[in-house]
Amino acid sequence: MLTHRITFWPFMFVHLIAIACWTLGYIGGWVPILSVVLHLALLTYGSLTPDAGFFIPHSVNLEKGTLALTYDDGPVPTHTEAILDLLKSEGVKATFFCIGDRVLKHPELAKRIVAEGHVLGVHTQGHSWRWGFMGKREALSEIERCVESIRSVTGKTPKLFRPPFGATSPNTAYAIHKSGLIPVAWDLRTFDTNAKEPSRLIEKCLARMGSATNILMHDPVPAALLLTKALIQRAKERGTRLVTVDPPATNK
Ligand SMILES: [Zn+2]
Repeated sequence: MLTHRITFWPFMFVHLIAIACWTLGYIGGWVPILSVVLHLALLTYGSLTPDAGFFIPHSVNLEKGTLALTYDDGPVPTHTEAILDLLKSEGVKATFFCIGDRVLKHPELAKRIVAEGHVLGVHTQGHSWRWGFMGKREALSEIERCVESIRSVTGKTPKLFRPPFGATSPNTAYAIHKSGLIPVAWDLRTFDTNAKEPSRLIEKCLARMGSATNILMHDPVPAALLLTKALIQRAKERGTRLVTVDPPATNK
């Protein structure tokens, strides 16, 4: 697997050789520029593709024939509640990666998620747009504060983590490792946050479902409710077992 650890020093070596050869006049200036551009492209790919495990390995696929419905960015009133109602009526358990600030703002929803047997994971305290650019200490604090928010509200210690925007960097990878949480990616991204028409979104997701085992949705997005309904129906038709990513958190 291509990782930052494996590629960093070879790339640095190539950059140095390219710069030295250019300085001595053996090659044109475009060669060192090209090597830097390629390296930056690889780092960008690694930052935005958590399932690639470029900076830190993420849990991605679950057992074949199973499907985990996973939701990021909640809990929020109305939308999360509607999804919880649907999951309850269908007898399905799911995994919610919650934002710490929202857990504190809507403690009754966080408690309900846990009480109804769903798994509640960490999605940082504030879901800052700067997440991918944070230093080690700040990133770790974002994770630890969210763990504490969940623990203070639900009495459970979460075990799973999903990075905001799916973004990782050497600093956030360090923070995730240090937190002891298990980073979780996905093998099907629904892009529900960009959906304009729920029917088109559902059509696209069902077409791409294939052998996916871990589906990323966002409970604050209104379309996620209809999408959930469609995914449950398709899973039941296919005999796919709907599961959580991990057993619910312990009392520790
Ligand atoms: Zn998010």
